Amino acid sequence: MNIKYFDLNRFNLNYLELFQNSLTEFVSKDYMVLGEPMTSFERKYSIFNDVDYCSGVSNGLTALILCLKSLDIGPGDEVIVSSNTYIATWLSITHVGAKIIPVEPFEDSLNLNFELIENHISKKTKAVMVVNLYGQSAELDKISEICLKNDLFLIGDNAQSQGASCAGKKTGSWGIINATSFYPGKNIGALGEAGAITTNDIDLDIRVKRLRNYGLSEKYVNDEIGFNYRMDNIQAKFLELKINNYQTIVNRKREIAKIYKNNLTGISFQRLPDNCTSVYHIFPILTSQRNELQKHLYNFGIETMIHYPIPPHKQKAYASLCFQKDSFPIANHIADSELSLPIDPFMTNEEVYYIIEKINKFYYGL
Ligand SMILES: *Cc1c(COP(=O)(O)O)cnc(C)c1O
Repeated sequence: MNIKYFDLNRFNLNYLELFQNSLTEFVSKDYMVLGEPMTSFERKYSIFNDVDYCSGVSNGLTALILCLKSLDIGPGDEVIVSSNTYIATWLSITHVGAKIIPVEPFEDSLNLNFELIENHISKKTKAVMVVNLYGQSAELDKISEICLKNDLFLIGDNAQSQGASCAGKKTGSWGIINATSFYPGKNIGALGEAGAITTNDIDLDIRVKRLRNYGLSEKYVNDEIGFNYRMDNIQAKFLELKINNYQTIVNRKREIAKIYKNNLTGISFQRLPDNCTSVYHIFPILTSQRNELQKHLYNFGIETMIHYPIPPHKQKAYASLCFQKDSFPIANHIADSELSLPIDPFMTNEEVYYIIEKINKFYYGL
């Protein structure tokens, strides 16, 4: 049996008819950018997150940059961020000229260790940027409390966690401002580049909408130095269709995760805190025999991935920050032992049980 890590083609084919109908409608109108399809998508995604405002932007990285810019975070400021995230989270901080203060995750939940945050706060700290890694909400209630107490902004990187929640509140609504990505491989994937920002703060929303569109307050009136970080209307249209059907996707991913957890023994999973939920963008397992297991599964036609093999502090791009290679032992440990099993919502149960069988064969020779 051959099992792809994620079959994007099979996934999107399920939406073909809907896409085609929308496309016909789309080409018969004279939409340029930021028109009716965008406001319609923004309404939908703000309701999905239980927030008042949403802005569609060009991708997840630009969304993160706009979150920081709208809060006037820049040179001279420090931002606390997880040591074990996808590099985009770090890059956004670098691009606004602020200083990255990495903090380690918990070894079991793989999300930010809130107990370490206060040790890293200085007079220059402005924000904590939290990534809800692998689709699982971090303990945002605890982190939010620490931010309130220390007068810091909480910024959410929800690129992997659309719809996940902590204490019943969606990840997209915990931060003063929150970013997400609709990269095609994400849980809600566009047909190309896209991202969004959610907030309950009207001033931040106005600022983000201005910054994404050349700093314009009205046509040909530029209030500040902005960007062109707009999302295409066609992506907005497709995303709206996917959001309508998203709960089914999450339900199936949760079902697959449950089958894995019930049938794999002696393996470390990402610990899910009691009041948090996951939308399983990724299903990580941790094992000291990661490379051997990956090869074994590959030989049986099963494709797996590693998220991520090199943590940001070890990347050449960040050599100038002069972190020691062993500065973040937990991030290093995760990079050395993490393996992502396929959790494609359109996998059949037969495929899931085949993967389980081959993993058990690796450990127990069954
Ligand atoms: C994918 C991702 C991003 C960046 O999103 P793009 O749309 O690719 O720019 C940011 N943060 C995390 C955690 C991600 O997984």
